[in-house]
Amino acid sequence: MTELTSPLFSLTWAGTTDVGHVRSINEDAYYADRGLFILADGMGGHTAGEVASSLAIQSVRTFLESQRPSSLTLAVEESLLQAVRIANEDILKDAEQHEEHGDMGTTLVIAWVVGSYLWYTHVGDSRLYRWDGSSKVLSRLTEDHTLVAELVAKGYVLPEAAEKHPYRNVLSRCLGRPDLKAGLVQKIPMHAQDRYLLCSDGLTKEVPEQEIAQILSANPNDQEAVEALVHQANEYGGRDNTTVVLFSIL
Ligand code: CA
Repeated sequence: MTELTSPLFSLTWAGTTDVGHVRSINEDAYYADRGLFILADGMGGHTAGEVASSLAIQSVRTFLESQRPSSLTLAVEESLLQAVRIANEDILKDAEQHEEHGDMGTTLVIAWVVGSYLWYTHVGDSRLYRWDGSSKVLSRLTEDHTLVAELVAKGYVLPEAAEKHPYRNVLSRCLGRPDLKAGLVQKIPMHAQDRYLLCSDGLTKEVPEQEIAQILSANPNDQEAVEALVHQANEYGGRDNTTVVLFSIL
């Protein structure tokens, strides 16, 4: 666990990733440091998923670290959109150069602390949650970009049927596609005792949200919390790679 003391907040954070019990390789990747948190869940044949997720993390990190510090609303929003575009182009370029990476893609979540706000954007079904330290309530800040989530939004599929839907894993958006529609860029004010969780679907497909909230309540230490979350996903089957990044406002 590392700590950063800024004039506004002190943050602590931790991240971990685990291959799980079924997959032979881990195609997730993450980055967590000094107010920038990124998570990507790659897909594609051979080792292409791994390449896509690490390229996404590297591109976003390099670009955003060259942009800070900035607190102008338009500049922050544009920087995040630009970061997503650059990551997408880098993946497409690599796929063009290496035939075996042709079908690769990845999800992406970026959470960026700028002043007293958390800015975030995402593509795909990796998620960002906010856990409120005073009410202990967990709320999801991102909408999955999946075919099923879109059918639910349009009223064609009932929300309670979504989790068992045969197409629940089909993404409607991911990086590595020439026609990528970037996600929304949003911002929320941060408060003392808030905790924010980035995670791949390896966590959310195994561990119900209520249990995620309980684990966060029971583990005030970030490192212990991320380890407990991954442990629980593996206890319930560990059918996918699980990655979690958690940061807490003191
Ligand atoms: Ca996954």
